[in-house]
Amino acid sequence: MENKKDLLDMTFEELKEAFTTLGYPAYRAKQVHQWLYSGQLDINNMSNLPKEMRERIAGKFIAGGVKIAEKLISKIDGTRKYLFELKDGNIIESVLMKYHYGYSVCLSTQVGCRMGCAFCASASLGMIRNLTVSELLAQVLTIGHDIGERISHVVLMGIGEPFDNYNTVMEFMRRINREDTLNISFRKMTVSTCGIVPRILEFAREGIPVNLSVSLHAPNDEIRQRTMPVAKRWSFDELLSACKEYTRITSRRITYEYSMIENVNDSTPFAEILGKKLKGTLCHVNLIPVNTIEGIGFSKSSRARIEDFKRTLEGYGIAVTVRRELGSDIMAACGQLRRNKIT
Ligand code: SAH
Repeated sequence: MENKKDLLDMTFEELKEAFTTLGYPAYRAKQVHQWLYSGQLDINNMSNLPKEMRERIAGKFIAGGVKIAEKLISKIDGTRKYLFELKDGNIIESVLMKYHYGYSVCLSTQVGCRMGCAFCASASLGMIRNLTVSELLAQVLTIGHDIGERISHVVLMGIGEPFDNYNTVMEFMRRINREDTLNISFRKMTVSTCGIVPRILEFAREGIPVNLSVSLHAPNDEIRQRTMPVAKRWSFDELLSACKEYTRITSRRITYEYSMIENVNDSTPFAEILGKKLKGTLCHVNLIPVNTIEGIGFSKSSRARIEDFKRTLEGYGIAVTVRRELGSDIMAACGQLRRNKIT
């Protein structure tokens, strides 16, 4: 593996310092910085730099180091799934979705995941390693460059558990928020966790208004522990009180993700239990018809079950939406992202 330093791992200040040390005027750092955040990650294509400089810089640095290995475009809704090859040969996936309010990317935060949720395709990968700040940036920059449009929203709901790669994820979000990078408002970023309690509490104190999603998928410990190993580490009550503490500190509404799995967590009595627990808290519940993963024996709840569940929760004054499924023909939906075997 090459050991060149990655330009995307450096802040603007660090770039300036590195370039002045190499004998270039400071404005060169600014030009390179502009190229990087316009999505041009090929140093040899940074056309306003002298050829000699491009060659010298490319000899010393890389930018992101990810390559598009494959791109799938949904015929139904235009959702795109990108497979990226990292410089060590690992593969990750990201998804681009178009909404009326703009383009949103769903990014991976780790190669694999060690949380082991029973319904999730990424779990079978196991955990290989954390992604770096540059690899997170390279996903959004490469996609933006590929479609030639501004990415307005970033959700960290791809492969991996963002709160298991906490510091990198925080630095990434702060980086893309800067006016001189992608200028994406914190309110247009969402981080999703399976419920790592201490990190939820830490996140509450970061002072950045990023949206928080918590993957709940059950109304109590018994059901949650059946599908989510993390539920054995922190109880449902511990998780709920961390979420309440988060809301107390930030005054922000939490989104609870609830994948509807037939005959596992989708009965009306379960909706009653959940409704009682969430009643009066500042939250929103997003019901996701579970995506069937080959070899994993879970089925989607029926439309009627989902509607009943929704109505029951609404009876407790809770805001509920049912997630629209995008990119279903290209396996781009939640929980379906996984490494394709490339040998
Ligand atoms: N590790 C983080 C983020 C990645 S998963 C988390 O757990 O929140 C993004 C969302 O997809 C989570 O809510 C996850 O539980 C959900 N998910 C995983 N597999 C799924 C599947 N097969 N169908 C529907 N949602 C799934």
